[in-house]
Amino acid sequence: MFHFDNSYARLPDRFYASVYPEPVEGPKLIVFNEALAKELGVEADLSDPDRLAATFSGNVVPQGAMPLAMAYAGHQFGSFVPQLGDGRAILLGEVVDQGGIRRDIQLKGAGPTPFSRRGDGRAALGPVLREYIVSEAMAALGIPATRALAAVTTGEQVYRETVEQGAVFVRVAASHVRVGTFQFFAARGDTDGIRELADYVIDRHYPELKTAENPYAALLQSVAFRQADLIARWLGVGFVHGVMNTDNMTISGETIDFGPCAFLDEYHQMKVFSSIDHGGRYAYRNQPGIGQWNIARLAECLLPVIDQDQDRAVDAANEVLGEFGERFQAEWIRVFRAKIGLSSEADGDGELVQQLLSAMQDQEADFTLVFRGLADAAEGLDERFLSQFADPSKAVEWLGLWRDRLALEPQDDARRAGAMRAVNPAIIPRNHRIQEAISAANYGDFSFFARLLAALEKPYEERPGFADYMTPPTAEERVTRTFCGT
Ligand code: AMP
Ligand code: MG
Ligand code: MG
Repeated sequence: MFHFDNSYARLPDRFYASVYPEPVEGPKLIVFNEALAKELGVEADLSDPDRLAATFSGNVVPQGAMPLAMAYAGHQFGSFVPQLGDGRAILLGEVVDQGGIRRDIQLKGAGPTPFSRRGDGRAALGPVLREYIVSEAMAALGIPATRALAAVTTGEQVYRETVEQGAVFVRVAASHVRVGTFQFFAARGDTDGIRELADYVIDRHYPELKTAENPYAALLQSVAFRQADLIARWLGVGFVHGVMNTDNMTISGETIDFGPCAFLDEYHQMKVFSSIDHGGRYAYRNQPGIGQWNIARLAECLLPVIDQDQDRAVDAANEVLGEFGERFQAEWIRVFRAKIGLSSEADGDGELVQQLLSAMQDQEADFTLVFRGLADAAEGLDERFLSQFADPSKAVEWLGLWRDRLALEPQDDARRAGAMRAVNPAIIPRNHRIQEAISAANYGDFSFFARLLAALEKPYEERPGFADYMTPPTAEERVTRTFCGT
């Protein structure tokens, strides 16, 4: 079924623990991502869903798999934990996809591993569906993210705050190497391990750096740039990751770990959803600063391989940390210029965007619908945009400034509106709709989940039949808290 070629398993023993999935009682297929399977060259017999369920639950380990749990450490909410590791995720192996890219196939919730600590190694249905929905939505939005190949229920119960149904999520990633993977070796003073891991990720994710003057400094810079770009794009769609611990930041630049994440409905720059983020460490607007903080932690790990001379290594690392900020700013303004329909650059564009955001925050305007409505305003129809503001006076004023700026633009109105609709989604995975899909699934009805997935397939189109996914929650529907994916 999979044409495995398992490079991580060829790394030294201390990089992982070999472990087989623990079979479950009654696996049942919820969903299988045919399009992704095709992209991965995975051959699946769709007429036999029980066989797929057996494979994706871990009950049957496919030929060629070398199941393992990866070792990693990480800073969780700023506190360092020297050993985390895959406590409930098992890497089956890797496949090389149709585009020649190596991708991990991982079962999340497939049973305990040597890294489980007090955890049960399992996943509950709700978080599995949330990760499925949001990771596929991110991909459809064009934002790098791990992907969802399948989900199954296990026929077993898991014990969280309440009793929940067990499930397994099949995650596909460019790799599961994280900042925390480097920290695992750094915490042990294992410089050989750091070098070996760095060589591995250069080979896998950044082969162009092999010939760089200092490949390890170049690696730090490349990871910093990918993360800066990624976070700018999160801000562009109103995404709050919610748990940007260093073990949840990939080296590849893909978004990973969709536990307490959520998309903004009404805009507020300090918005937090996660029930455990009391201090707002991972609030919407704090994400670039945290990204830079995490990259600083990666830099510390790489110092001994960047240069034997500590001062020179520190200088090189500090230079990259400065560049992170510049790179983020540049990508942020690129993203938001496009969102307000600017195809050229002028002084004051950043302020123009900030003025809009500030009016949105004062009026609790819906982030997604403001920008989508602005595409109509580009064609002279201001109604949809203005209707997002309880008191539209500031928004009216802003439209005036915006139109003055548009006078400097080469593009005509129709092209501008089209370009804006291609970057400002109409449909995002709103929290209340995710909650609705999970609640129904808990009662055995997966139709809301399926319809939400279908709606999110084409986020930039306003398709008949999916209009209800565009609307923000009513006061009663509003979901203000999310919980870690346990
Ligand atoms: P996360 O919050 O998903 O980023 O996970 C943080 C750490 O806790 C990782 O080492 C996970 O493998 C581990 N973990 C989370 N949930 C469980 C569980 N149910 N059983 C075992 N380990 C877990
Ligand atoms: Mg994690
Ligand atoms: Mg998680």
